[in-house]
Amino acid sequence: MILKADRIVTGDGLTVLDNGAVYIAGEKITEIDELATLKAKYPDSPVKEYKGASIMPGLIDMHVHVGYWRSQIDAPTYNDYKIAYFAADYLKKAFSKGVTTIRDLGSPKNLSVSINSAVKSGFLEVPRILPADAPLCFTGGHSHMGNGWEVNGPWEIRAAIRDLIKRGAQWIKLMESHRSDTPEFTQEELDAAVDECHRVNKKTMVHAGTQPAIQMCIDAGFDTIEHATDLTADQAGQMAEKGIVWVPTIVAYTQTYKHIMNNLNNLNNEGIDAVTRRFIDQRAYFEKAAATYKENFRKLYETGVKIVTGTDLVYYKAPVTPVASEMKYMVEYGMPAIEAIRSATKTSAETLRIDDIGEIAVGNIADILIVTGNPVQDIDAVENVAEVYQSGKSVYRAC
Ligand SMILES: [Zn+2]
Repeated sequence: MILKADRIVTGDGLTVLDNGAVYIAGEKITEIDELATLKAKYPDSPVKEYKGASIMPGLIDMHVHVGYWRSQIDAPTYNDYKIAYFAADYLKKAFSKGVTTIRDLGSPKNLSVSINSAVKSGFLEVPRILPADAPLCFTGGHSHMGNGWEVNGPWEIRAAIRDLIKRGAQWIKLMESHRSDTPEFTQEELDAAVDECHRVNKKTMVHAGTQPAIQMCIDAGFDTIEHATDLTADQAGQMAEKGIVWVPTIVAYTQTYKHIMNNLNNLNNEGIDAVTRRFIDQRAYFEKAAATYKENFRKLYETGVKIVTGTDLVYYKAPVTPVASEMKYMVEYGMPAIEAIRSATKTSAETLRIDDIGEIAVGNIADILIVTGNPVQDIDAVENVAEVYQSGKSVYRAC
């Protein structure tokens, strides 16, 4: 199959190929050349032409809680079966946003690994998932009332990590702060978690929004720090030096704050879920967080810290995997569009250590997003999804 659009945005943060076409054989991109050349070489191959459109890599959402059902209005009716259906429905919708790979940041025990197993058996077609399974928190810590697994002390943490890996977790998630300046795990516990993961060649991510939690997590050497809302330029520089990737999730705080304000005077409305009610109580935190990203993002980006796109929206009826919205905030707050595209594609793939996705390149898996317009000139174009391919197969087409 040959795909042709007005341009190819490769995802490397630099290259835009005008007049290029992509040849897909099986699940891989095997050639990139001029349309006429590919047509002459493969005269029997079907050609799909997208006028006024761009070819780019499928998007990667680096922060999703797979199957986060607690904000559903009818949450009490959910058992494990219903949660699995709910998760499958959400994940299928992610294709319509151009998302082909998702990093799970903590979900009900065994859910994300079971979805991967169902995909492998051919029961389900959803984006590629890198499961974290249950996130680890200290007793009473952030997420303990949700999916969190309460563990304390270096050896309990190491044992939990071994158990998660045994069950199929590909990343390990820890929670280190929760809307206050009090860190949760001690430095000794954080150091043990990172050591245990790296010792067995697994990567680890941590929720840290405030100080001193952020500095403790930088010192421990996590692979990615989630949110890091109060990150300073000095700390971003330390992260750049140590190769720690920042997942700001601007959209989570900014969009949730808007959602809070929309519902503030509407508390008796039955349509308000339990999670939104909790967020309304925490609205001062969200307001400050949204303002902090806006004020600091440019200077943090300029330190050279690697930044990737994560969305983390969990309230009832929140947009599904709004990676395009995160990219728009990054551009609005000071990052060139072509680099925001790299953040959502190649930089994310590098962070995941998957070297054959995230870039339109010969030999890579054909995870491809076709958007109408030119996202390098206008990042809003990323929302104009025309068609999405995963491993060379069309998984979504706008009608
Ligand atoms: Zn999260």
